[in-house]
Amino acid sequence: MTVVASFFSSGTWLAVRNLLIFFAVVFWLATVFWIYKDARRRLEDPWLIGVSVMLGVIVPFLGVFVYMLFRPPEYLEDVRERELEIKAMEDRLSKRDLHCPVCRSEVDVSFLVCPICTTKLKQACVNCKQPLEALWQVCPYCETQVEPAAVALPALEPPRRRRAR
Ligand SMILES: [Zn+2]
Ligand SMILES: [Zn+2]
Repeated sequence: MTVVASFFSSGTWLAVRNLLIFFAVVFWLATVFWIYKDARRRLEDPWLIGVSVMLGVIVPFLGVFVYMLFRPPEYLEDVRERELEIKAMEDRLSKRDLHCPVCRSEVDVSFLVCPICTTKLKQACVNCKQPLEALWQVCPYCETQVEPAAVALPALEPPRRRRAR
């Protein structure tokens, strides 16, 4: 028997081989777990998460790289945060778009007159004193009929229309 052959039949080789297999399996399971963890943060569809994990299981070691090529670039929480920020910005913009038709200063939807130039913006309900829109026929707060205004009120500028996507 040669030295090499006797080494491979020895107990040392068996131990080394078992250890290598053990580490390979641990690494494989770690990649599968990592895919699961990462996919849950990036994918909403549980089916897609399942497919990603299966990819890691069926294709050991290489599956994780294939997954990295196809995964969405952003975390779900980042996408949600950005959507919230855009919505908040749009809200701010639509509020800011309300201007006095005479002096262009910002006015609130509830203002009856412009506080800067005292232009009358809206009439108040005779009963509950809530500000009424120019086209309203009845007060929505107390159901009192709106009497037609003696003088035509200058229309408030409507909020800028949102661009269609
Ligand atoms: Zn004004
Ligand atoms: Zn009213």
